[in-house]
Amino acid sequence: MGFDSFIGNAPAVASLRRMLTAGRWPNSLILAGPLGIGKHTLASMAARALNCLDDEALAAGDFCGMCANCRRIAPVESPESDEEFAKLLSARAKMRAEDRRERPLMFSTHPDVIAFLPDGPLRQISIDQARLLKEHAQFLPASARRRVMIVDEAERMDAAAANSMLKILEEPPETTALILTAGNYYELLPTIRSRGIPLHLSPAAESDVERFLAARSEMSAADRKLAAHLSEGCPGRALGLDLEVARKQRRDAAEWLVSLAARAGAKPNYEDVMARTEGLARGEDNLETVVAILYSIVEDLLHLRAGRPPLRNVELESTLKPLAARVDWAWLERASQRLDQLQRNLRRNANRQLALEGLAAILAG
Ligand SMILES: [Zn+2]
Repeated sequence: MGFDSFIGNAPAVASLRRMLTAGRWPNSLILAGPLGIGKHTLASMAARALNCLDDEALAAGDFCGMCANCRRIAPVESPESDEEFAKLLSARAKMRAEDRRERPLMFSTHPDVIAFLPDGPLRQISIDQARLLKEHAQFLPASARRRVMIVDEAERMDAAAANSMLKILEEPPETTALILTAGNYYELLPTIRSRGIPLHLSPAAESDVERFLAARSEMSAADRKLAAHLSEGCPGRALGLDLEVARKQRRDAAEWLVSLAARAGAKPNYEDVMARTEGLARGEDNLETVVAILYSIVEDLLHLRAGRPPLRNVELESTLKPLAARVDWAWLERASQRLDQLQRNLRRNANRQLALEGLAAILAG
């Protein structure tokens, strides 16, 4: 138990530990990275490392996980995925604004470690929460060495909250450490960014996420592989995925490609392809997912043609194998290049209709 149990991001963890051993903990630390990457887990680990009672662990810039402080600073690993907490947040979103103002949301597993999470229907860090944070930051620790104030999703601070926090971010009391987390570092207000030391967390390797799932869930090996792949290197996301939905989307996409290939020679009808694409990509966010699935299938077809097993869609091998034998290299390469291009365009928010038409053209050609 200690920083070694954090999944991925060894360089970021190493710099955090150097700050601890050198006694140069920043006034404000900013942990930035995508949802589910482990920002809150790392913040909670830092809170334990700042307060651990074990000399050996301390000397190594680590925490023991077993002393009274470590145990009491329970890991609030991912409050967002925690069911109870999600319920609390949705109840608060429905509360009258005055009631919310009277009792600003804060979340604590230890009297000296307090997290502030976006609250209300707009999911914002409010000025009332900022005021409460400033008040709590002044208290002396009850049983810890340092009080740790965590602001989750700090990019969701409104301007009033941000302004009222500037001074404390720059000069917190010596007995208080401030940790901000952000899904997107560049969405933080520049005045906030300039007052903190950032640590950027990037996606973990799929094999690391698989190992994490093996330790933390009852998932089968096949489920772990799929979840790790779909999580894009974010362990927290991997835990909360609906794998049945994901599998169905994959089967549908593969069956569709098979039915297209079956009619090869008789040129597929463009309108028909367009309608099927629309069908697969029901809903606004789904197009990107469908394109990613098709891309992964085309990649697997390339592997199969080269006599290698599929890399991404192991479960679809029996469907994909005959398909790989039927389509030609040129089609596969063209499809893979264009899907790659399409993925990049979608990330830049290209026009959805144009993207759909492009996709239909690839598959019909
Ligand atoms: Zn400890």
